[in-house]
Amino acid sequence: MKIHLIITSILFSSLLLHNDLQAQKQKIKTVVIDAGHGGKDPGANHGKYKEKNITLAIALKLGKYIKQNIKGVKIIYTRKTDKFIELYRRSEIANQNKADLFISIHVNSSKSKKAKGTSCFVMGLDKAKENLEVSKLENSVILTEKNYKKKYKGFDPNSEETDIIFSLYQTAFLEQSLSIAYAIQNQFEKRASRKNRGVRQAELMVLWNCTMPAVLVETGFISNTEERQYLSSDYGQSIIASAIYRAFKGYKKKVESGGTFHQNGGKAGQTPPTTSTLRIDKSIVFKVQIAASPNKIKKTPRNFYGFKDINEYFYKNRYRYTTGKTSDFEAILEIQKKVRKKVPDAYVVAFKKGKKIPVKQALAILRKKKK
Ligand SMILES: [Zn+2]
Repeated sequence: MKIHLIITSILFSSLLLHNDLQAQKQKIKTVVIDAGHGGKDPGANHGKYKEKNITLAIALKLGKYIKQNIKGVKIIYTRKTDKFIELYRRSEIANQNKADLFISIHVNSSKSKKAKGTSCFVMGLDKAKENLEVSKLENSVILTEKNYKKKYKGFDPNSEETDIIFSLYQTAFLEQSLSIAYAIQNQFEKRASRKNRGVRQAELMVLWNCTMPAVLVETGFISNTEERQYLSSDYGQSIIASAIYRAFKGYKKKVESGGTFHQNGGKAGQTPPTTSTLRIDKSIVFKVQIAASPNKIKKTPRNFYGFKDINEYFYKNRYRYTTGKTSDFEAILEIQKKVRKKVPDAYVVAFKKGKKIPVKQALAILRKKKK
C-alpha cells in the first residue's frame, strides 16, 4: 500500500535531521517482550492446545537468551504468568519503560488445516484479506475488556477516518519495525526451516500506540497439525525463540552502528520499498476536524483553541468544525500534526466538490489519477 509510505516519507523528511543527529547515539537498552493473550483470553486454540501457553513459553525463552548472551539489555515482560493483560496496557508498559523495541509473540489460526508458516506484522494500512483476518483475530480480545470504547478511543477499525490517525503513531518507526520484521522472517526461514509468509502490515491494536519500533510475530498455525506439535514442544519453542533472538542481535548491531534500513528481497505479501506521492486534484479538499456539536458554535478563535481559519459543515446530525484547508494531502498531515499539539483528537477529513467523503476514498481517487 502506498498511503503509509507517503506518510512515512513526510514524517521522515521532518524527522531526518533529528534522526541523523541521534543516529550514532541510538542504543537498544530496553526490550519489551509481549506474550500474546493470557488468563481468560486463550487466543487461538485447538483442543487442549492454547495460543496463550505457547506465546508465554516462547517469550520467556527469548528473554532468557537475550539476557544470557547480550550484555546491557534490559528485558521487560508484559506478563510472566498466565495472566490477562488488556491490549492497551501492553503498549503502555513499553511506553512507560521507554523501551527501544516491542516484540509481541503470537500463534496464527486458519479454517484451512493446510495453512502454515510464519509472518511478521508491523502497523500499517494494508487491507489484504489475509492481513485483515489476522488483525481481526488479534484485536478481538478488546470486546471482552471493560470500557473498551473509551480506552481505544480513536481506534475503530471500521471507521474511515481513523485509519490515518493510527498510521501516524507507528509510521515514524516504520523503517526500523520493518527491519526487525524482515530479520525475524529470515531467521525463521533459514535457521528454523519455517515457511515464510512474509512481512505484512495490519491495523493491530497492540502495536498502534507504541512509541518505538514494534513488531507482532505470528510463529505458526495452531490449526496445522505439524506446526501445532512443533510449537507445543520444548524443542520447537526453543528454535523459534532462538531465531527471534538471532534476529534481534543483528538488528541491535545494525541500529547501534547507525546503519540505514533497507528491506531485503521480497516475497509475495511483502511491502515494496518504494515511495510515491499523491497527485493534487483541486476538486478534493482536506481539512482537519477539531470539534463537533449538535448546536452551532460561533466561529471565533476563542471557541476553537485559538485557531482562526475555522470552517463549518453539517454531517450526521452534527455541526462539525475544521481548521486548515488544502488539496495537498501531505500538507494537511503537517497541519494535523501542529493542530494535535492543542487538540490531540483532531483528524483529517476529505471533501469532494464540497461534499464530505471518506479520506480513503479521496486517496484512492488521487492514486488513480496518477496512472
Ligand atoms: Zn494472538
